[in-house]
Amino acid sequence: MSEEEPQEIQALRQALAFSPENIPLIQHLASSLLKYGRFEAAERALKDGLSQEPDNLQLQLSLAEAYYQQEKRDEALVILENLEKKNQLDADSHLLFAKLLSHTTELVVAANHYKQAKEMDASKEDETLEEELAPFLIETFDDEDPNHPGKALAGNHPGEFETDTEKPKITFEDVGGMDSVKEQVRMKIIHPLANADLFKAYGKKIGGGLLLYGPPGCGKTHIARATAGEVNANFISIGLHEVLSMWIGQSESNLHDLFEQARRTAPCVLFIDEVDALAANRSDMRQSAGRHVINQFLSEMDGVEYSNEGVLILAATNAPWHLDPAFRRPGRFDKIVFVPPPDFEARKAIISLMLKDKPTDGIDIDAIAKKSEGLTGADLKAIVDAAIEETLDEAMKTGNIVPLRAKPLIKAAKKAKPSAKDWFASAKNHALYANQAGLYDDILEYLKIKR
Ligand code: ATP
Repeated sequence: MSEEEPQEIQALRQALAFSPENIPLIQHLASSLLKYGRFEAAERALKDGLSQEPDNLQLQLSLAEAYYQQEKRDEALVILENLEKKNQLDADSHLLFAKLLSHTTELVVAANHYKQAKEMDASKEDETLEEELAPFLIETFDDEDPNHPGKALAGNHPGEFETDTEKPKITFEDVGGMDSVKEQVRMKIIHPLANADLFKAYGKKIGGGLLLYGPPGCGKTHIARATAGEVNANFISIGLHEVLSMWIGQSESNLHDLFEQARRTAPCVLFIDEVDALAANRSDMRQSAGRHVINQFLSEMDGVEYSNEGVLILAATNAPWHLDPAFRRPGRFDKIVFVPPPDFEARKAIISLMLKDKPTDGIDIDAIAKKSEGLTGADLKAIVDAAIEETLDEAMKTGNIVPLRAKPLIKAAKKAKPSAKDWFASAKNHALYANQAGLYDDILEYLKIKR
């Protein structure tokens, strides 16, 4: 057998002959065998390793993989189910779990594992699974299809949907920079609320919302919360994924409950994040259950049946191009606002805000703002947190308060990677090639691209 084996494997076998109890070496051999498609041999090697170290996680995961490759799916599932009980699944094992279950009727569970794999590691995206599990990934079902597995779950509804309401203490003063976004929120949301009678007198309808879009971590949630603080309103913040349900009809009813909660607690800023979860400009979605959810959302927004007086709707997305154009009609999200990473002045303002009330020692904020070009608000927060941690370490050693200095901040800024970079890489294509009516001109302007 060994003469047919690639040299790499032969060498590993020889090494193993000298130290048969070397578990890392066994793992190495098994990985090579898997790589060369020698699944049965990998299984033998792994079982040998596990007889010496039964709890070795890596060996177990590799054995599950070896089983999967040989279509011994039940054996693979047993391993993964045991690891799940012990909370030991990593991104790879969630992915494998999803692949295994995608061959069964447990497609909802498969989709959940696949989602977890992607959440843990975005690079685990898998084209085949995306396709196979598509209806379960958007968590809405085609209720016209009687054979749809989700159908069986209908009628099994949990109770009324309710989420937390808070009364934010922060206002626009706690938001660094973002002057243009603040102005647009004032014009679209705050002034109409404060001057409701004036608007009515002129027959102008108050309503609709503001859609904020841009890379993650640039303060969309932060400014929404501050908007509520600014007008002394309640604040409800929710990711749309939390509202969408796998039960037929339940997504619509959850959405209604959510809007009702906002109406009950008016004046209230209702902030809906990940609104692209209704990724409905794909024509197939419009034919199916997704359409009902979208229609429900739009009619709740239009406030035809129930008045939305005193409900300020802000929504956010990192992917506005996935949103159905119906969302952008008048009276809905007719204003879409780009929230870019902070510029120099905004970074200065954000850093100053983050250092407010902390013991500091002659920090040159300009210098840090210069070193942090391209970073988001969330990146800046990470820098400040890292510098505080370093200073705190020092303070604990001496037992005295050590003021925060520029050095650890600059060090952290130099190390930081701009988290918005990937977002711009894909946004650029949408702005260049799918920029209807100049909707994404702001992105091109930010990237200094001339059309
Ligand atoms: P996501 O798309 O991931 O939801 P986001 O755009 O909503 O991101 P936030 O959650 O609002 O980003 O921002 C992350 C954190 O960064 C905030 O909690 C806040 O601490 C800080 N931050 C971002 N922008 C600002 C800002 N302009 N002023 C002060 N702090 C900010």
